[in-house]
Amino acid sequence: MLRIGITGGIGSGKSIVARLFAALGVPVYDSDSRAKHLMAHDPQLRAQLLAAFGPETYTAEGVLNRVHLAQRVFKDAAQVAQLNGLVHPRVGADFEAWVATQKAAGQPYILKEAALLYESGAYRQLDRIITVYAPPEVRAARVLSRDTHRSPADVQAIMSQQLSDEEKLQRADYVIYNDDSQFVLPQVLALDEAFRQ
Ligand code: ADP
Repeated sequence: MLRIGITGGIGSGKSIVARLFAALGVPVYDSDSRAKHLMAHDPQLRAQLLAAFGPETYTAEGVLNRVHLAQRVFKDAAQVAQLNGLVHPRVGADFEAWVATQKAAGQPYILKEAALLYESGAYRQLDRIITVYAPPEVRAARVLSRDTHRSPADVQAIMSQQLSDEEKLQRADYVIYNDDSQFVLPQVLALDEAFRQ
């Protein structure tokens, strides 16, 4: 069973593209939402986050306090690294367990969607990587209309923490262009057919 990663900078359209694969029946592992789920519910990860970031990491009701966590790691690269160092391995293990169930179900291939596929080291668990590409100005405009709570400065800050488009394109096995230069669906269908073979 092939393991395909799908990545792209914020606003590139990787979630939309992953949804197209899902509509074709491909199992998709959404790393960002699984990470959020595990931070909220996984007992081992909860204990590690509490130890690292203090008792305020969870409210009295036991709910993850995102505002506290964001404030703790905001603009502090060492704290971001510490947070990622706890979350990424837990997501990696969760992904392996999920892969095993998909394999047992006889799936020809699966997709792992992640914003930070290279940065997290997750690419090592994958056979091939798709990068979804759109130029930065198009991505910024899309994100600003999608996320009304984000300012242009917020979007720039997120983009500056991600690997550059050049490096992602260079490292990718496949590129899906979502920059209005070509239709997206035929690109998805062609890759789906190749992976099934
Ligand atoms: P990502 O997951 O890479 O951050 P999304 O898939 O959420 O990106 O896409 C970002 C936003 O841009 C979403 O609101 C999406 O609906 C929109 N979008 C994506 N691709 C296109 C496109 N080709 N044309 C117009 N809007 C698009």
